[in-house]
Amino acid sequence: MERIYIGMGSNLAEPTEQLRSAVQALAQLPQSTLAGVSAFYQSDSLLPGQPRYTNAVAAIDSTLAPLQLLDALQAIELDQGRERHERWGPRTLDLDILLFGDRLIDEPRLKVPHYHMHARPFVLYPLAELAPAALVLADGRRLEQLLADCPFVGLERMAPFAETNQ
Ligand code: ATP
Ligand code: MG
Ligand code: MG
Repeated sequence: MERIYIGMGSNLAEPTEQLRSAVQALAQLPQSTLAGVSAFYQSDSLLPGQPRYTNAVAAIDSTLAPLQLLDALQAIELDQGRERHERWGPRTLDLDILLFGDRLIDEPRLKVPHYHMHARPFVLYPLAELAPAALVLADGRRLEQLLADCPFVGLERMAPFAETNQ
């Protein structure tokens, strides 16, 4: 079993609903157990003219291989109506593998740790709800240092997932 953190985001078609459905889909993944879900966070899109985003992080424990998990996450994205037009375009659901145990992965389809997580408060702050601050990433960076270098700016924390889900 490896602990995997998955970043979730949506800015189309009732983002909160999209994230709730995504959590249900993650709970159904084969060879995997859902270990936790952060609160949901809202923030303005980094690109002008896009609706606000809702983001969260989920933790799963899994024996899936990394590319098997990526395939499964992309299937969930498609299932929830994601269409890929331009990169960083608005989307019903984005599921990114942030951390996969202590693996460093550098394959054409999959880079882990996620290449831009250090600069994204909507990834780091929900991640910090689930992961220990003392966590050291596979590339040697410390989560608490990434948090210290990434101010909590522009984020609105919503109810914890359990309350959000009622
Ligand atoms: P960003 O990567 O900046 O968050 P994005 O999530 O919108 O942008 P996508 O269109 O979802 O980008 O994914 C583009 C490609 O990124 C995918 O086809 C996938 O193969 C690749 N990819 C590389 N590393 C990862 C990862 N850690 N998690 C998910 N996808 C990844
Ligand atoms: Mg993404
Ligand atoms: Mg993605």
